[in-house]
Amino acid sequence: MSRYWTEKVKNIKPYVPGEQPKDRAYVKLNTNENPYPPSPKVQDAIRSATDETLRLYPDPESGALCESIAAHFGLKKKNVFIGNGSDELLAFCFPAFFEPAGKPILFAEITYSFYPVYADFFGVAYRLIPVDENFNVSVDGYFSENGGILVANPNAPTGKGLTLEIVETIVGRNPESVVILDEAYIDFGGTTAAGLIPRYPNLLVVRTLSKSYSLAGLRVGFALGHEDLIEGLARVRDSINSYTVDRLAQAGARAALEDDAYFQETRSKIVKTRDRVSQALTSQGFRVIPSDANFVFISHPSMPARSLFAGLREKGVLVRYFDKPKIDQYLRVTIGTDDDMDRFLKAVEEICRS
Ligand code: PMP
Repeated sequence: MSRYWTEKVKNIKPYVPGEQPKDRAYVKLNTNENPYPPSPKVQDAIRSATDETLRLYPDPESGALCESIAAHFGLKKKNVFIGNGSDELLAFCFPAFFEPAGKPILFAEITYSFYPVYADFFGVAYRLIPVDENFNVSVDGYFSENGGILVANPNAPTGKGLTLEIVETIVGRNPESVVILDEAYIDFGGTTAAGLIPRYPNLLVVRTLSKSYSLAGLRVGFALGHEDLIEGLARVRDSINSYTVDRLAQAGARAALEDDAYFQETRSKIVKTRDRVSQALTSQGFRVIPSDANFVFISHPSMPARSLFAGLREKGVLVRYFDKPKIDQYLRVTIGTDDDMDRFLKAVEEICRS
């Protein structure tokens, strides 16, 4: 606490990212990073971009990258906006689309824990949509009056997906609100809503290259939507920092998107490993929430999640524990390589046996 802080900064409760410890080598299954390196073409592209042009500011619109992404999704360049990771895009959405003195926005009771942080920071009221004991969201909750809607599909930290039909119903029944669909994990399961964009001017799909493209370190996300929504985001960006995505990130991201063969190979490996690990955990007596993402949300009938988290940490395996109502008996475990997951499964077995 400092007397120089504003009242706002004194009162905020910032988001706490998963730890990036330096004390020893861990099997790191706590922040949903991809265990495989990015496409070798990404490193080539970044190397080629590392030249004398670094003295120049980057293209504030990331035009070439927008073109690649538009082509990838069958959209137009004007439907694409690039950000410094999808967290930045989500943050920009608040001042762009949600009124501080307006009706509450809606998001699920159990979802990405950054959403309430943004809402509080931007002074936007929110109402939580309940989830049942299987972490299914009461979708009817999205058909009530609101000032905007934020849905993670698949959801985090549960991994639960919504069908495209349900997503379309949410978007279609809320023509007065912007519906933000956070598809950070969609490449690991489920169907993207990007195809709905030409028909729904109130839909914004937010994506990231951090997970399925192995580029958490490069900080690139993108939003897809009607050109008026994209312009709203640009107005926010250009009131804060025009150059959010640097030259190397723009070059690397393009190369990643263009290497579809590598993308397909790594993503299918993760999906295969996820399904194997889910089965192995189920046979060890765990409750495993069926996951459409690159992580699994698991609970043991007798071993408290906090103890299992601590036991795993001692054995050099890091997972994520949320000390929050309804989920404090669960651990979120990112899917690593097969070797990582064998080490994890062995450690879990030893802890649960002792
Ligand atoms: N949305 C969800 C649901 C996430 O879990 C994350 C990762 N923490 C993000 C968005 C942000 O990802 P990034 O900023 O790396 O694109």
